[in-house]
Amino acid sequence: INSSTRSQLDFSKASDGLIPAIVQHALSGEVLMQGFMNAAAVDKTLETAQVTFYSRSKERLWTKGEASGHVLQLVSLHTDCDADSLLALALPQGPTCHLGTRSCFSSTSGAAVPLLQQLNDTIASRKSAAPESSYTARLFAEGTKRAAQKVGEEGVEVALAACAGDDRELLNESADLLYHLLVVLESRDLSLNQVLEVLRQRQS
Ligand code: AMP
Ligand code: ZN
Ligand code: ZN
Ligand code: ZN
Repeated sequence: INSSTRSQLDFSKASDGLIPAIVQHALSGEVLMQGFMNAAAVDKTLETAQVTFYSRSKERLWTKGEASGHVLQLVSLHTDCDADSLLALALPQGPTCHLGTRSCFSSTSGAAVPLLQQLNDTIASRKSAAPESSYTARLFAEGTKRAAQKVGEEGVEVALAACAGDDRELLNESADLLYHLLVVLESRDLSLNQVLEVLRQRQS
């Protein structure tokens, strides 16, 4: 929504004038948190581009991150089919949950976290592990060149399987390629979200 479609929002369904607002990571799709907005919270969210709720416990407008600095930078705000709930796509500037996790709905992984994001976290956690403890840890120990070589190999295997019409092989090699791509990115201290950001910029 924008300032003109904002007037269609239906605050009258709940007697307290609050509508539920779900916050989702604009790039990864992770569900980050849920809060409530009244009309003033929606206006402030749109004006400042920082997700602002009406806090039922504080009984006032609450800009997420106002004390911690872990604000939710608004990318876009959407309403559902009958305009009685909100979805905010945002880029979190730090952990969203006050318990220090990325999402209020998961500790380090879980239902709110998309599969590739979970795999990315697992891969990152192997960076400091002993080389003999896992295949991923050994890849990191061998350095970026080794991981890069694997990406090349798996890419060729994907191409060969596709050309041969071997769909089972194509799926397996594609999984190998995605995994090794995450490893090579991580070995350069880059993240999946940075790749998604490049794709997002190409969309607009
Ligand atoms: P913050 O808005 O991040 O500056 O945090 C201020 C206070 O709001 C915290 O001390 C918590 O009590 C509360 N809080 C922060 N983040 C959340 C959250 N994701 N869900 C519920 N309460 C939160
Ligand atoms: Zn609805
Ligand atoms: Zn939380
Ligand atoms: Zn392979």
